[in-house]
Amino acid sequence: MFQKILIANRGEIALRIHRACHDMGISTVAVHSTADADAMHVRLADESVCIGPPSSRDSYLNMPAILSAAEITGADAIHPGVGFLSENARFAEVVAEHGITFIGPSPEHMRIMGDKVTAKQTVAGLNLPVVRGSDGAVSGEDEALAVAKEIGYPVLIKASSGGGGKGMKVAHSADQLGEALQLAQSEARANFGDDSVYIERYLEKPRHIEIQLFGDNFGNAVHLGERDCSIQRRHQKLLEEGPSPVLPQDHRAAIGKLAAETVRALGYRGAGTMEFLYENGEFFFMEMNTRLQVEHSVTEEITGIDLVREQIRVAAGEKLSFTQDDVRISGHAIECRINAENSVTFMPSPGIVKSFHAPGGPGVRIDSGLYGGYRIPSNYDSLIAKLIVHGADRTECIARLRRALEEFVVDGVDTTLPLHRRILDEPAFITGEYDIHWLEQLLASDP
Ligand code: ADP
Repeated sequence: MFQKILIANRGEIALRIHRACHDMGISTVAVHSTADADAMHVRLADESVCIGPPSSRDSYLNMPAILSAAEITGADAIHPGVGFLSENARFAEVVAEHGITFIGPSPEHMRIMGDKVTAKQTVAGLNLPVVRGSDGAVSGEDEALAVAKEIGYPVLIKASSGGGGKGMKVAHSADQLGEALQLAQSEARANFGDDSVYIERYLEKPRHIEIQLFGDNFGNAVHLGERDCSIQRRHQKLLEEGPSPVLPQDHRAAIGKLAAETVRALGYRGAGTMEFLYENGEFFFMEMNTRLQVEHSVTEEITGIDLVREQIRVAAGEKLSFTQDDVRISGHAIECRINAENSVTFMPSPGIVKSFHAPGGPGVRIDSGLYGGYRIPSNYDSLIAKLIVHGADRTECIARLRRALEEFVVDGVDTTLPLHRRILDEPAFITGEYDIHWLEQLLASDP
């Protein structure tokens, strides 16, 4: 097992990884930008190294600085967290070339899944259902028009290298297609340095249901149930729950089995998540994320399995510590992403946290590096805390979550707490009858 792990990330996820390491008796190295010198994960880590100025490009994305920090401190593995370099196959290769273990899948699997067109083609070849769409990237308007005519409107244009909901545009008819294509291409170029786009049928009332998967080096592949991430704004998740309130048991078992078989066929190692749209009882594969996800904690609460610990074990060459039969889904969990944003305008709200009071009591978990007096930097994404609540069933979980949201205090900056309180009072949320467009429609109906 590793003696020392360098955590190449920041914020709540860096803290989450630090906690898994210390639970396993592994010491930690935090790397941080000058803007994060006072961050909680830096304070708690056994060692810390400043790797650059606030800009992510010069710090958390700076491969030579991170590798030097690993060499200086003698770390034997690097955990990339989520975002930043976590899906960068080149980084995984360079880490390995330095004799350090990258905690994640092989660079080859990261490459296949990192290109969404290749990913769809690969899993379709292994019998997973995919959203109808272009066979590959589309080059120009004529080709786009032909594809759209064949699959039927509305269509969605998506960036091949996409992420974070960027580079996605809907066209409801042929006369909207040209403009949507141009917009998607220029957004893709600006965000990912790659203007290649593909086309999919735009589903109008789907749910986003994703399957947590794990593979190891011994041919084992398991699924750990699903998370329903349909509460979204601008294609970004805000609240996630598991199990999905609408998924019948036979559909759950069937998609889990199919996804795990795909992982086994690929020889995939480590944690991964397959994201699907689910509409009228049918699943459609969208993409596979080859890393831990922010909402992994929902799965941890309903399975009792520490996913970060499992990632570390598998990377160290050990077998998965559980089999498919050991995975038991128990009760219900919901996660609220608390962002430092205005809950009406969604404008980022960095600044000093005057006071911070976290809720507690039965079934309540907080993953956050916040503390009173902490300055939230303006340079990074605005996630400042995750509130994860577990209950014996969905009704108990919602009651506990409502109570926890009442207790939660963050003063000094705006947060999305009021929005979460509101969602929990909405009849459609309480009955579970919502789809991926529901929250946007609710917000659009505000005066
Ligand atoms: P990203 O990697 O940018 O997050 P995804 O492919 O995961 O992109 O899609 C993000 C979200 O966009 C999905 O959760 C869903 O809400 C919406 N979406 C993606 N594809 C479609 C589609 N074909 N029809 C309707 N909505 C879609």
